Amino acid sequence: MTVNYDIVVIGGGPAGLAAAIAARDAGCASILVIERDRELGGILNQCIHNGFGLITFDEELTGPEYAARFEKLALEGGIDFMLDTMVIDVSSDKLVTAVSQAEGMQFIQAKAIVLAMGCRERPRGALNIPGYRPAGIYSAGTAQRLVNIEGFMPGREVVILGSGDIGLIMARRMTFEGAHVACVAELMPYSGGLKRNIVQCLDDFGIPLLLSHTVVRIEGQKRVEAVVIAEVDGHGKPIPGTEVTYPCDTLLLSVGLIPENELSLTAGVELSPVTRGPVVNEVLETKVDGIFAAGNVLHVHDLVDYVSQEAAVAGRNAAAYVAGSLEENGVSVPVTATDGVRYTVPQSIDPERMPDELTVRFRVGNVYENRYVSVYLDGDRIYHRKRMIMAPGEMEQVVLKKAELLAHPGLASITFKLEEA
Ligand SMILES: Cc1cc2nc3c(=O)[nH]c(=O)nc-3n(C[C@H](O)[C@H](O)[C@H](O)COP(=O)(O)OP(=O)(O)OC[C@H]3O[C@@H](n4cnc5c(N)ncnc54)[C@H](O)[C@@H]3O)c2cc1C
Repeated sequence: MTVNYDIVVIGGGPAGLAAAIAARDAGCASILVIERDRELGGILNQCIHNGFGLITFDEELTGPEYAARFEKLALEGGIDFMLDTMVIDVSSDKLVTAVSQAEGMQFIQAKAIVLAMGCRERPRGALNIPGYRPAGIYSAGTAQRLVNIEGFMPGREVVILGSGDIGLIMARRMTFEGAHVACVAELMPYSGGLKRNIVQCLDDFGIPLLLSHTVVRIEGQKRVEAVVIAEVDGHGKPIPGTEVTYPCDTLLLSVGLIPENELSLTAGVELSPVTRGPVVNEVLETKVDGIFAAGNVLHVHDLVDYVSQEAAVAGRNAAAYVAGSLEENGVSVPVTATDGVRYTVPQSIDPERMPDELTVRFRVGNVYENRYVSVYLDGDRIYHRKRMIMAPGEMEQVVLKKAELLAHPGLASITFKLEEA
């Protein structure tokens, strides 16, 4: 039997919740959120540190507190939920196949879909580190779940590879729990995490951050006994003679997040080779009609506040799509990222259909000091702002004004780039 909903939201994390709430507030009365976990809130449930919600609520909340505020709004009525239910297939005509222990296989026909499945961590297998496969190697997110939710300590003497935010947070968390964190080794010459996390999670606890270093060997057959860390050259190749052995029982990996996009692929959604999330337009609609995307499944965010903002846009537009009020003008001006800008979201804009102000988010490809972020409409520079420092770990954004785009009839390209002056 197939049930019908106007909007199906896949994933009950902050993106899914914000999208569902916004769709409901925009007048859609038939919304289903499907979440594979036992509870709503997504990854925030295991992020028990504070620092969430400064932008949205002007308060410093923990991850579960931030999630709880959205859960409360979502549960106030008008939205249906399926928990403990895994979506296993989405077709391009928006038939959703889900499975749960209680109900078995279920088919849900949607008029619009919001993809909000979050992201996953890059595993050891993607790293090519020589050595055995002993116990004691965890992704930082797995360790976070073990410590904060399950109540287990993964180990006592810890080395962390990769300086993504989750690794930095876990360096501090493991220290709080009595472990010794010997160092965080980072392959790149810059950290992949937020500056505030480096200061608050490493510097405040005297944990060294070894930039341009990597793990070249894992020792121990049954359990990790040590890791060997070496400095790398400008090509990421270990420099012979720089190896240092760190005795430890645990290696945590914080080496990148990848949008969870298996379902996007089954739906026929085009993915960006840079973000590895869907290619979307200004209403956050993918290349498949009526399928929208937001949050970490679209591109990896560092602040959940921006996830919520973005997802609300997707939810509102999904509701407009269902109501038939999302105009199709057939205009799609490509947004090009170049000269230090790695990507933008969205990747195309219809100037007629965009809101009065549209936030374009992007990341840079390296650490840049005293550079200008510039935006060109064809050959005309309409935005030129100096940033003291920009780094790949920190998401940037520029707000484009509809009036400015409309003042360029026949606009063929929008370009985001970094300039020296
Ligand atoms: C391990 C980890 C730790 C993090 N720690 C922090 C932190 O400390 N601070 C911070 O600011 N940010 C942190 N982040 C970033 C954080 O992910 C985002 O801020 C935000 O939670 C992203 O929201 P989301 O809804 O896009 O994704 P998520 O919160 O990941 O939610 C996605 C939801 O989709 C569900 N789902 C996925 N696939 C399916 C499916 N097939 N069927 C049904 N449901 C599905 C998942 O179970 C999950 O509940 C962390 C991310 C990760 C991966």
